[in-house]
Amino acid sequence: MQRTDIEWVVNPDGSPGYTCNPVKGFCPVACPYCYARRMYLRFKWDKTIRFHASEIEEISTLKKSSTIFMGSTIELFGEWVNFRWLGIIFQWVRLYPQHTFIFLSKCYQNLVKYRAFPKNCYIGLTATDAISFRAAINCLNHINAKVKFLSIEPFIEPFPILPSDIENVNWLIIGGMTIPKAEIANDYMCHLIEKNELLTFPYRSSLWRVLPTADMIRSVISIADGMNVPVFIKDNILDGNPLDLRLAEMRQELPGGVQLKRKEEEVARKKRSHSKRRKPKTKRTSNRRQT
Ligand code: SF4
Repeated sequence: MQRTDIEWVVNPDGSPGYTCNPVKGFCPVACPYCYARRMYLRFKWDKTIRFHASEIEEISTLKKSSTIFMGSTIELFGEWVNFRWLGIIFQWVRLYPQHTFIFLSKCYQNLVKYRAFPKNCYIGLTATDAISFRAAINCLNHINAKVKFLSIEPFIEPFPILPSDIENVNWLIIGGMTIPKAEIANDYMCHLIEKNELLTFPYRSSLWRVLPTADMIRSVISIADGMNVPVFIKDNILDGNPLDLRLAEMRQELPGGVQLKRKEEEVARKKRSHSKRRKPKTKRTSNRRQT
């Protein structure tokens, strides 16, 4: 278990939360953008899927109420995860009601079999395109959890969204795709970018980001606002504001009114630089009026 820089995993006091990976190994879902799989290949880690009880036992060392993202490096609801391992994980979840456990899955067909989750769980599904969005919504409509959320990350295809789609959704996360520079021109990426008119920008160090258009993001935000669903937009979209989002759109909201402390200064800085960029326009307008 370790502190995480995944920006939407936040403790109740606003500080960064934790990731816990009791199941280790090379994730068979094989998403082309997977960061964890890249790490396994790069550092030649053991790809065998196995259970590490010691990792989950570290939860007992947490003194304060915390938020823990379970299974950040492998899909936990796939057939490759022994049913008994999941049983142990949920025993620990029940044992520590003071902590919030976040699960995020792409295995809609398996997750739906659980139906009800312990009260201290946030259950999320990933939707990246129209097909996975439909499947995720259908699954969320059939399960019970304190917070049910949709992670639209990476947002790689525009899709229609109606208010009724998210009436059982308590939180939305929107993110772009961050990939190594060397992969930006591969066949899959080129096809995806061209087909969906996605936007590409250099990012941190040797990374690039493939982003949805501002209109794709707006279509989700406007429905979420109408349904009072908090929206968290990831840093890979907000940093430097390359999509020229409006201030009100640049948001990092969390369920339950939790306030993100670690980013407060950063978000304020982004907003300041955003307003600075807009100031000259205001000036020009007022000058024009005077003449
Ligand atoms: S499901 Fe998650 S961990 Fe598995 S390959 Fe996809 S992104 Fe990686």
